[in-house]
Amino acid sequence: MHIDSIVVGEFQVNCFILWENSPNALVVDPGDNPERISNFLKQNGLIPSAYLFTHGHCDHISALPILCREFPAPIAMHKSDLEWAFTKENDFPPYYKATDRPSVESRELKDNAYYLDAGLNYKVLHTPGHTPGAVCLYFYENSVLLTGDTLFAGSVGRSDLPGGNSRKLQRSIDFLATLPDDTRVYAGHGQCSTILQEKKTNYFMRFSNKIE
Ligand SMILES: [Zn+2]
Ligand SMILES: [Zn+2]
Repeated sequence: MHIDSIVVGEFQVNCFILWENSPNALVVDPGDNPERISNFLKQNGLIPSAYLFTHGHCDHISALPILCREFPAPIAMHKSDLEWAFTKENDFPPYYKATDRPSVESRELKDNAYYLDAGLNYKVLHTPGHTPGAVCLYFYENSVLLTGDTLFAGSVGRSDLPGGNSRKLQRSIDFLATLPDDTRVYAGHGQCSTILQEKKTNYFMRFSNKIE
């Protein structure tokens, strides 16, 4: 599996592009700079099979309308975030205005469900706390976990934004600590890590699981 990130927008979101057999690709969190995402796809001969979202925040979805014009494909998000992601509730002045919902198929990402898109198998892990519908995308065959704004290298996402919940976030982090140590963590912002590295060094995960 190929995985590349394009860092986009004011808040430096990692937009991930994943593919196994071109031209089919998955685009995760196309948050901004649609022209750069589009150029990357064209340079690599890729066409999105679907747009997946770790959560609904504007900085993770704003490139969608323009990308969908060039590369129409279904969008997939947890329903608890789909409810508000394309409404005025997602205005974040002065940086982002609410994103228009493109007229493509919308799918719901369900907790513990398995999906196959672009030839890639993944499981959805509902990890609320940063937002009600935050999910991690677990490409279990490749030991790759896309954590969005739930878990970062050395930190976790904010839980003080609308819909956030610190208790739920900690429960989600505790759950992620049960995944295999060698799982590679690709966060929505910043550097990559592994579950083991986070268990050793991330304050929010250190107490989740005893490390021998
Ligand atoms: Zn966020
Ligand atoms: Zn974010």
